[in-house]
Amino acid sequence: MQLRVRALETVLAEKGYIEPAAINAIIEAYETKVGPHIGARVVAKAWSDPAFKRALIADASQAVLALGLLNRVGDHLIAVENTPELHNMIVCTLCSCYPWEVLGLPPVWYKSAPYRSRAVSDPRGVLNDFGVLLPAGTGIRVWDSTAETRFIVLPMPPAGTAGWSEEKLATLVTRDCMIGTGLPKEASEVA
Ligand code: FE
Repeated sequence: MQLRVRALETVLAEKGYIEPAAINAIIEAYETKVGPHIGARVVAKAWSDPAFKRALIADASQAVLALGLLNRVGDHLIAVENTPELHNMIVCTLCSCYPWEVLGLPPVWYKSAPYRSRAVSDPRGVLNDFGVLLPAGTGIRVWDSTAETRFIVLPMPPAGTAGWSEEKLATLVTRDCMIGTGLPKEASEVA
């Protein structure tokens, strides 16, 4: 696969369709600057700022943009809120669409055929595989991403975190809890 990618990049560069330096700059940005820490800041702010949470649910693209975070033009980001009654989970059944701007590069399993198919046919089984055991009464809603529409899960704040600063709250927010395949850390797990 690496050889095929390199061959393709060479041909496109020789034909003048792409600029290798620009490609490298984009890759470096996603490897070093963009990552789940951005989504964690968004979630932590939603937990501690009711007005921001309302804005996030109403229009996540605008709310994230207002935070001064990266947002590619054309992407429509939707925040879906977990409640005791409903757990949300994100997949792209077609390929690998993922909210790069807030979560960075997707994990390998997110792009795998087993996750993409089982997330919709057996979401509770997938959650169990991830070690997430929801109460039987909690429903699960699976959201299928597209090239234009991306999702981020707004998890429920863990118990015992009332009054925490946004910075401290953000340390509870894992990548997987924003995909819906995990839950935030417990308050006792962070110093
Ligand atoms: Fe996709």
